[in-house]
Amino acid sequence: METAEIRRRFLKFFESNGHTVVPSAPLPAIEDPNLLFINAGMVQFVPYFLGQAKPPWDTAASVQKCIRTPDIDEVGKTSRHGTFFQMNGNFSFGDYFKEQAIRYAWDLTTGSVEQGGLGLDGDRIWATVYLDDDEAIDIWHKQIGLPLDRIVRRGQEDNMWSMGIPGPCGPCSELYYDRGPDYGPEGGPEVDEDRYLEFWNLVFMQQERGAGPAKKDYEILGDLPKKNIDTGMGLERMASILQGVDNMYEIDEVRPLIDKASELTGKRYGVSTSHTASESHPDDIRFRVVADHVRSALMLIGDGVVPSNEGRGYVLRRIMRRAIRSVRLLGYDKPALPELLPVARDCMSKSYPELAQDFERISSYAYGEEEAFLKTLKHGTTILDTAVAETKTEGGKTLSGSKAFELHDTYGFPIDLTLEMAEEQGLSVDQEGFRQLMAEQRQRAKADAAARKTGHADLSAYWQLLQDQGPTDWKAYETLETESRVIGILSEGKPVPVAKSGQIVEVVLDRTPFYAESGGQHADAGKLTGPSFFGEVVDVQRPVKKLVVHQVRVLEGELVLDDRVEATVDAEWRLGARQAHSGTHVVHAALREVLGPTALQSGSFNRPGYLRLDFSWRAKLSDETKSEIEEVSNKAVRDDLPVSVKYMSLPEAKDFGAVALFGETYDETVRVVEIGGPWSRELCGGTHVSHSAQIGPLVLTGESSVGSGQRRVEAATGMEAYRYLARERDLVSQIAEEIGAQRGDVLERVRAILQRSKDAERELAGLQAKLVSGRAAEFAQNAKQVGAVKVAAVQAPEGTKGGDVRNLAMQIRGHLPEDQPGVAAVVATAGGKASIVVAANAAAKAQHVSAAALVKAALSGKGGGNDDVAQGGGVPADQAPQLLDAVVRAIGA
Ligand code: ATP
Ligand code: MG
Repeated sequence: METAEIRRRFLKFFESNGHTVVPSAPLPAIEDPNLLFINAGMVQFVPYFLGQAKPPWDTAASVQKCIRTPDIDEVGKTSRHGTFFQMNGNFSFGDYFKEQAIRYAWDLTTGSVEQGGLGLDGDRIWATVYLDDDEAIDIWHKQIGLPLDRIVRRGQEDNMWSMGIPGPCGPCSELYYDRGPDYGPEGGPEVDEDRYLEFWNLVFMQQERGAGPAKKDYEILGDLPKKNIDTGMGLERMASILQGVDNMYEIDEVRPLIDKASELTGKRYGVSTSHTASESHPDDIRFRVVADHVRSALMLIGDGVVPSNEGRGYVLRRIMRRAIRSVRLLGYDKPALPELLPVARDCMSKSYPELAQDFERISSYAYGEEEAFLKTLKHGTTILDTAVAETKTEGGKTLSGSKAFELHDTYGFPIDLTLEMAEEQGLSVDQEGFRQLMAEQRQRAKADAAARKTGHADLSAYWQLLQDQGPTDWKAYETLETESRVIGILSEGKPVPVAKSGQIVEVVLDRTPFYAESGGQHADAGKLTGPSFFGEVVDVQRPVKKLVVHQVRVLEGELVLDDRVEATVDAEWRLGARQAHSGTHVVHAALREVLGPTALQSGSFNRPGYLRLDFSWRAKLSDETKSEIEEVSNKAVRDDLPVSVKYMSLPEAKDFGAVALFGETYDETVRVVEIGGPWSRELCGGTHVSHSAQIGPLVLTGESSVGSGQRRVEAATGMEAYRYLARERDLVSQIAEEIGAQRGDVLERVRAILQRSKDAERELAGLQAKLVSGRAAEFAQNAKQVGAVKVAAVQAPEGTKGGDVRNLAMQIRGHLPEDQPGVAAVVATAGGKASIVVAANAAAKAQHVSAAALVKAALSGKGGGNDDVAQGGGVPADQAPQLLDAVVRAIGA
């Protein structure tokens, strides 16, 4: 049975049993600062389980895209761990519980294929339950009829489920399938988890856990308001069972990638004869890593993650690099992703058609990243080789931790790569030192994250407010001023009753006209005023959905909980914000008009007067292209296109052709902003002008690269654009005045002036050289007798250039009598340093007076040249006279 078919049957089964089918949340877990990626089907429902929000349905089912970063290292070595996988889940929010959950799972898995089931043999199914969960044992045994010897009690680590972090948890019951003696010894899941494959976990979610280790020994905080059901069936694991393959990398959605990699590398997959993944040949493991990681990268980029050096982007980068490196170890050293990624797309677009539509954008990130990494590999390899050679010459056997860290940090060299390559050259690596430095870096990153805007990673105070007071009555689209009541004051994340003058606190109002930073639009500025209070709003965020939090600096009086205040947005600010945000849409549409539809925005930011927009594009934009984008933008402004806002469902919006920005989560109803109808259609919650002419002039002020395959344009809008142009105009006026030209002639005049100055310099240099050489005879004349040698020791005239110093030395030598040993020594100073040139004649050489030896004597061993002519330098300028003295002394000696 195809994976897509299992998925379809699952959803159909639960839908026909009254469940609402809910789409998968995007992989990046944006709402939860404790989690990088969604790692289970229940994550998007956490507030419902905790009772912080009311679920719109009593029961639901989904197929959730998941990433589990802790499982990356297992990939290929077990039969059942993918980085990316899909979790089929059914959920009950206080509706049915244990008995019905077990019944559903059993009926779907063992139900006949003809009647929509999955058709597994019930006699091969085992169940585990939490230690003292006798109720679950009873259900399995008495109602389902599972024999007691196939029901196993297990402890907290295995059968008390949580997300690994504070949140809902509960005892669980897992379903295992016995794959038979080919896969390992008999005895149930306790004995062998490869033969007995866990495919479904039923969580009886009824408690809340606190901080502590991920899997056991954490604190149970108490009961949840209701008893819930959360289940997870591994779609890939079920597919591997139903398709009769050894592991999840050999199912229909993944195997074609292995085959393609095998075709590219010329290596055969399946070298090992064992069915057990852990006994595989290293090449087989590599094939699986390639397949898993390429597919995972596709899904991640598809959901808006882009490679970077931190957070989610770093996970993506890491798995892409592991994939690329593994392909190379299998023996293929050309770019592999252009071959592999389309295969992954074809496998996955049955269930995720958007991947095919969006493939241009996805692949441009992936290919760009591979290109960059191949360069990194080349460059890093040189650095590594040098470090290895150095370590060896010093007699060391271990590459230092700091070198390994530098390779990792600066060149993006993964540590396993460093280990492997160092080992090939007979060195080990100080892993302890490396880990120490990594830990320090992580600490720094943590501190950074903690200081980030939304403040406290612990969102409980916000959730509490939302629960007690309900969502903020948000008026940003309607008005700039509201009468509001202060319903919460937080200081450093903790509720306080009052804020005093000088304090900066977070303030929650029952109603607000302030726009909270989102969708790239900067937060509004403004003020709060009460009868005896005045405060400035310095930032506005929405740390949890539907709760607007103002960061307020108290300037006068006291702000007390329950006070009535007037909340006022700075009108000038908001106008600027609207201009800049509409301007961003205009520039985006202009980019796509000029460059084509693949120039898709990947991020943006705007505040009054300024906007920037990042988009997928490989090459630097030419000056003509930039002008064209600017012109298209300004024409759209001139045409005074109407700006309109429509509300619709997400699928409707997609059909409507609205551009969805990746990495954002959208509610069921989305807001579509149009400028000039279909010309610009974007999902957007921002504030906009009502006609495009209100944006005012739009001027591109910058264009640059931001990482592989990404460019950034920056622009000024409204009054700021006018001021930008006015400044440029004034600059031209000032230049014109300075050079005494008409504005229209400035460029020509500047060119002429530059040409003249170049000519003059050349002439001056010629004159100087002549002047200097003209004095050569005079310098020779004044030569002193030192023993048998005539020595002309000369300080070159101010401004003599490097080449001229040498010429001067040789010319002086030419003027010294030939029949007598003669030496010319010339010092010159430039840039704060002194240098020396020494020239010796043939008679001097015959007396064993060597120019090179004399320079070395003056510069304590440094300098270069031969017996005829030699030079050196680099000492401080004020030592120039000493250099000459040293030469004279050396000749005398
Ligand atoms: P395991 O112990 O095998 O790692 P788990 O206990 O971590 O599994 P759960 O957290 O209970 O798994 O997840 C629910 C289901 O999701 C599992 O029963 C399994 O079918 C599937 N699953 C979990 N992790 C992965 C993974 N890395 N790749 C594929 N499927 C997975
Ligand atoms: Mg696991």
